Amino acid sequence: LDLTGRTALVTGAGSGIGRACAERLAAAGAEVLAVDIDERAAKEVAAAIGGRAIGADLADLDAVDALPAAVDVLVNNAGLQVVAPLTEFPPDKFALIQRVMVEAPFRLTRLVLPHMYDRGWGRIVNISSVHGVVASPYKAAYVTAKHGLEGLSKVTALEGAEHGVTANCVNPAFVRTPLVDKQIADQAAVNGIAETEVVEKIMLKRAAIKKLIEPEQVAEFVAYLCSPPASFITGSSIMIDGGWTAH
Ligand code: NAD
Repeated sequence: LDLTGRTALVTGAGSGIGRACAERLAAAGAEVLAVDIDERAAKEVAAAIGGRAIGADLADLDAVDALPAAVDVLVNNAGLQVVAPLTEFPPDKFALIQRVMVEAPFRLTRLVLPHMYDRGWGRIVNISSVHGVVASPYKAAYVTAKHGLEGLSKVTALEGAEHGVTANCVNPAFVRTPLVDKQIADQAAVNGIAETEVVEKIMLKRAAIKKLIEPEQVAEFVAYLCSPPASFITGSSIMIDGGWTAH
């Protein structure tokens, strides 16, 4: 994979999957723009990979519109999780999650497509989740947002095809990141059980492979989607879930 001369914008690049994607794309030669609300974390990642850090809150849609438009690879990755039963789900948190995880990816897609169309090449990778295709209780906002992102990704694929742009979702189950650490703690509180039980009995109950996925495994596939053999993969949602959705 050679992305020399390509610019890649990765949101949520300061941590977890986003960080691994930024590192992998930079290793392939791309100039990486590491975007994160946590500017310090973005700077740390950018310094490590020779990229550029941009501190931006994706909930601020004006700030999203002001991000660089001339990018060849867009990884919509930033996300957050709030766990609560529907009857108690805070409406402001529901709205925030839709803004960061659906509206911001829409704005970014809209922002970068003209440049990709001009170059006749572009790769958009939307980091979805198994929750883009199935649901779990207590995750109303997250499940709704990921299902929305799936729709955006497919429309992008249909419109982008004639311009050499592919768009796909990558759908991990549980990846070992700070977000999952928080989820484990939240679910333990909601269910009144120990954190080890959350991992074994709830998170990995449905998985055939009873292990958390590593961020690098997701990043490797994101990079593959930017490679020449993947040029025919578009409008797809690729499960990286250890068989979580196989039954
Ligand atoms: P993480 O919490 O480790 O990293 C998320 C990053 O996004 C953080 O650096 C955070 O600062 C940034 N971010 C959050 N809100 C932001 C905002 N408003 N503006 C800009 N940046 C913001 O999480 P992660 O586990 O690496 O998750 C990354 C993506 O992968 C998310 O979309 C998540 O839904 C998805 N995902 C994660 C898992 C998993 O098990 N970890 C599974 C499936 C999908």
